[in-house]
Amino acid sequence: MRGYSGWRILKEGLSGNHGWRPAWRTAELRNRYDVVVIGGGGHGLATAYYLAKNHGITNVAVLEKGWIGGGNTGRNTTIIRSNYYYPESLALFELSLGLYEGLSRELNYNIMFSQRGLVVSGHSRHDLEMMTRWVGAMRAHGVDAEMIDVPEIERRVPALNTRSPRGPVWGGFLQRRAGTARHDAVAWGYARAADRLGVDIIQKCAVEGFRKNEHGRVVAVETARGTVEADLVVMSVAGHSSVLAAQAGFSLPISSMALQAFVTEPLKPVLDTVSLSLATGLYVSQSDKGGLVFGAGLDLYNSYAQRGDFATALNVVGALAEQYPSFGRVRLLRQWAGIVDIVHDSSPILGETPVPGLLINCGWGTGGFKAIPAGGWLMAHHVATGRSHEIARPFGYDRFRTGRLIDEAAGAGIAH
Ligand SMILES: Cc1cc2nc3c(=O)[nH]c(=O)nc-3n(C[C@H](O)[C@H](O)[C@H](O)COP(=O)(O)OP(=O)(O)OC[C@H]3O[C@@H](n4cnc5c(N)ncnc54)[C@H](O)[C@@H]3O)c2cc1C
Repeated sequence: MRGYSGWRILKEGLSGNHGWRPAWRTAELRNRYDVVVIGGGGHGLATAYYLAKNHGITNVAVLEKGWIGGGNTGRNTTIIRSNYYYPESLALFELSLGLYEGLSRELNYNIMFSQRGLVVSGHSRHDLEMMTRWVGAMRAHGVDAEMIDVPEIERRVPALNTRSPRGPVWGGFLQRRAGTARHDAVAWGYARAADRLGVDIIQKCAVEGFRKNEHGRVVAVETARGTVEADLVVMSVAGHSSVLAAQAGFSLPISSMALQAFVTEPLKPVLDTVSLSLATGLYVSQSDKGGLVFGAGLDLYNSYAQRGDFATALNVVGALAEQYPSFGRVRLLRQWAGIVDIVHDSSPILGETPVPGLLINCGWGTGGFKAIPAGGWLMAHHVATGRSHEIARPFGYDRFRTGRLIDEAAGAGIAH
């Protein structure tokens, strides 16, 4: 398969665009692989790609029940940042941000990564105290972050009403290397690159159960299209992790909840950064097509309905209208939800499960898009070496037994 380039676009454009081929094959499902990855979201596809690229393991299948990127990877608001508090989280999310920085070139696929910066505004003395700690922790670990005052916030986010009577802005912080990327492109780019290295991507193939040997080790998965044997199985199914874990015979400390996203009609450029408020949880950016992309808190009950409830939608839209009065009359174009996997310490679960032969990557909750490169890279390392990478080790399932939680809800104030 030929690579993408400016020259190729020109050539195809001049010759009727007949030379393009599908970005990945429609692979035939085989009955045995070295590794089966369940879930064709960003994390599953990145795992398959790094297995092939970094470790030469190419006899790999990604089994996806719907279409690739059709889960949260294709539903999220695309913010990429590494502003966490604990050293363990900073190492993990900084690895991811670093991988994102070279990803378009590495995959030969334009993921439209735009490092437009993230401005977080605080609305009380307590917010500012917490931010000072937070920025200090980031800088101590070599991650870029700086406190900024209200005039600087007004300069960077002119549409934000910093004098709102209900939530005046007291100050904030900036991460310059944060930004956004095109979510589908991340899934498609990894899929195409993994396919080129020999990985089979099988869509419309739901995993419905596990087959174990006499020692309790997973040796195969049962799918809608038959049994597939594997030396090792990795599950990366986000909001559906507890369903599959129950089928494999263990439980997960995960709550599956809906998180909503919203897009407005396109506007001329009005916002060239990502803006987030600690008072309302509202985050907003402007897409390359001009729409305002925004969201805030979860629908606070367990659900598998990917639509979201009206009361939460009203709260989020109300926050936008209050904090950005000039956006108040912009028409909403679309709204949807995805089912996110919430862990009580707001940190992911990576590595071994209680079931031999089955590894897990889940628990990213509302923030796993930015972690896709690191999640895949670290999981591939674990599969290939048989050991958790030192960056992934603190995020093991066993932390719920030992009590060594990485409580980012308390540390960075990330509520979910
Ligand atoms: C509205 C919204 C906004 C968000 N905003 C951000 C953001 O701005 N920044 C950020 O970093 N993160 C954000 N997130 C979170 C982020 O989207 C997720 O953490 C991330 O996409 C998870 O990737 P994944 O590959 O683990 O899961 P997914 O992309 O959900 O992929 C899992 C896949 O598994 C498949 N699957 C499930 N069960 C089975 C089965 N039995 N057999 C086979 N396949 C199965 C699903 O169909 C799905 O395609 C947001 C999420 C939502 C919903």
